[in-house]
Amino acid sequence: MGFDIHRLAKGRPLFLGGEAIPYPLGLEGHSDADVLVHALMDAMLGAAGLRDIGHYFPPGDPRYCNISSLELLGEVKKLVAGKGYRLVNADMVVIAEAPRLAPHVEKMKKNIARILEVSEGALAVKATTAEGLGPCGCGEAIAAQAVVLLQARSPE
Ligand code: MG
Repeated sequence: MGFDIHRLAKGRPLFLGGEAIPYPLGLEGHSDADVLVHALMDAMLGAAGLRDIGHYFPPGDPRYCNISSLELLGEVKKLVAGKGYRLVNADMVVIAEAPRLAPHVEKMKKNIARILEVSEGALAVKATTAEGLGPCGCGEAIAAQAVVLLQARSPE
């Protein structure tokens, strides 16, 4: 399982699931701050018995400044494969009061499926609001959760 939350700020583009989403605010962070991909990466690393994304991609490292989180996801796929696992499926949810994400969900799934080399049918991206409650509900932040199933690859 993975969880992440980032603060919304002016002057930043909004990336979710590798998709640039038109919105006046974007997520603060060292990379592109794609909270959905970050939650997914932590879920994959955890299921493979590896450490968290901050361990592999330290926030202060200039190599990761404004990097697309999809690139980091490709690295996570390699780390997980190195432990002998492949992704079976992933279920993800974004918690955001705005913008409306339904029109972007299919493109997010396509982006993630391309990097992980799985069918889009193995992925779910859902969106929910926080009913006006807490930092996500008042529009200060966007959070995401992900849960994944990995399978040990059969020896070749
Ligand atoms: Mg993050």
